[in-house]
Amino acid sequence: MVLKKDGHSLGSKQEKSHNEDSSLKEFKNLDNKNEIESQLLEVSKGDDNENGFLDFGFNQSILNSLKNKGYKNPTPIQKAAIPELMLGRDLLGQAQTGTGKTAAFALPLIEKLTDNKELNAKVLVMTPTRELATQVAESFKSYSSESSNFKTVAIYGGTDYRNQISALKRKVDVVVGTPGRIMDHIRQGTFKIKGINCLVLDEADEMLNMGFLEDIEWIIDQLPENKQMVLFSATMPNEIRNIAKKYLNDPAEILIKSVKKETQLISQKFLYVQRHHKLDALKRILELNNEGVIIFVRTKLLTTSIAEALESTGHTVAVLNGDIPQNQRENTVDRLKKGFIDILVATDVAARGLDVDRIKLVVNYDFPFDKETYTHRIGRTGRAGRSGEAILFVNQREKHFLRNLENATRTKIEEINIPSNKIINEKRMEKLIENVNESSLAKEENEENKALIIDVLDNLKEKHSMDDSNIAMAAINLVIGNKTFFVNEDDSWINKQNNNDRNKSNRNGNNRMRNSNRRNNYQNDSFETYKFNFGKFDGVRVANIISSICNSTNINGRSIGKIQIFNDYSLVDLPRDLHRETKNKLKKIKVRN
Ligand code: AMP
Repeated sequence: MVLKKDGHSLGSKQEKSHNEDSSLKEFKNLDNKNEIESQLLEVSKGDDNENGFLDFGFNQSILNSLKNKGYKNPTPIQKAAIPELMLGRDLLGQAQTGTGKTAAFALPLIEKLTDNKELNAKVLVMTPTRELATQVAESFKSYSSESSNFKTVAIYGGTDYRNQISALKRKVDVVVGTPGRIMDHIRQGTFKIKGINCLVLDEADEMLNMGFLEDIEWIIDQLPENKQMVLFSATMPNEIRNIAKKYLNDPAEILIKSVKKETQLISQKFLYVQRHHKLDALKRILELNNEGVIIFVRTKLLTTSIAEALESTGHTVAVLNGDIPQNQRENTVDRLKKGFIDILVATDVAARGLDVDRIKLVVNYDFPFDKETYTHRIGRTGRAGRSGEAILFVNQREKHFLRNLENATRTKIEEINIPSNKIINEKRMEKLIENVNESSLAKEENEENKALIIDVLDNLKEKHSMDDSNIAMAAINLVIGNKTFFVNEDDSWINKQNNNDRNKSNRNGNNRMRNSNRRNNYQNDSFETYKFNFGKFDGVRVANIISSICNSTNINGRSIGKIQIFNDYSLVDLPRDLHRETKNKLKKIKVRN
């Protein structure tokens, strides 16, 4: 939806009233509609001569900084939110990162604070994490880079107070911070809040998930009563609606429907496998899923050797590598699309941009070089709105790459085991039964074959004196063929390998052992995940977290499940249904002070 305003400019000093300007009605209609389809930012860039920001009535300094940043047109959330915020209205917005929501609230607030001469901050933005606080503060700084004497200060935990205190002593327009540190500065009197006339809660649902509700309410209670309130949240659970009801005054409501990222439809998994077992592991994986598979390997040589190995076990396989001429490549892709080939073994370059809907599984046989390569590879499945699976092979040396990859892609990649004989045999059995059953259904549809089959049956019964069950057994035997039906190779290496790997990583201080425990925990559903706002940046380690939890609550170390430490937060699995008092204690725990 493109909104055009008829050259009318909304002045920055407008009263907090509902202007009946025609262009505003358009926005109000939008507001009534309450839903805006998210567009990718690229879509809104427009051509070089356009400047869709002119109509908001921003001063020249802001327009200049937007020009410097290369923004040409506002994103949908900016189109909807900026006029409301310029009027001083409260706002409740449902939007995710990537929609341009930061500029949506930062630009009108900067506009309002142009020429602000007061020493103490006027705007407070609260964010759940230190990372987001830094990011939002950086955005404010860049959008106000052409406005003279405009100051933004970020205050968050895990860093020295002194710099923050001295920054707060000087002239400040906007403070961006995380709840804990904001509270500390308010309590210490180092953050003067009497002048705050606007509060923004960014990623409110995340703040709630992290147990900040009480802190947020405490902070709101300290702030002057008469203030503009802006609340952004990626989701809108009842708790957020309740906060909005309690604190927001007749807010404009905006919902930006997010476009599901393709990778969200892909279930991402990894398995531990030592180098010399990789091919075995691959064959076992393909036992469970062999229709529409791409296997990514690092070298051309490997594409052919793996394809040959798979072909010898009866799969229909083709190769895609840099040596394959373009026309042959097109032919291969076409055959894959039509189902003449089920498996493709490819190098990264050769498979660039490959778009085949029926790809159900991507195997990262060799670890990808970087995040981009990984994202590209797994994006070959989960296409056209279908779901897909991606499996990453990880060896001993690649373990820390796996953690890096999870952090860089901000996704949790789930650990799975290499399928054992038992699993494979169950699958084979299931398939056999399915085939026989399907074949009996198909028979109903083909009258000609049906007559033929009845003839054969009569013949077997009369001439060979076979009864129904003998005939059925013989027919199934025919389907099985003369190969050994069940796998009975030694598969003890699978277990040994998994256990070894977990133990090793545990010795390394990694939390893989906890991960394997956690899988069981999840199976009996007795755990839930808590998010804490300390992480690698704060120098926190697994042991610190365990000791803090045990020391501050009555939770026993052995009942703590998986612990994952990210840059600025940690996820900890703790027993479900903890007592309220314990939960309150958890909210206050400190790690390494
Ligand atoms: P956000 O959702 O606020 O995290 O913004 C996502 C990204 O979009 C950031 O990199 C912004 O710099 C960028 N961005 C925000 N608004 C615009 C715009 N109107 N045109 C182009 N890029 C934008």
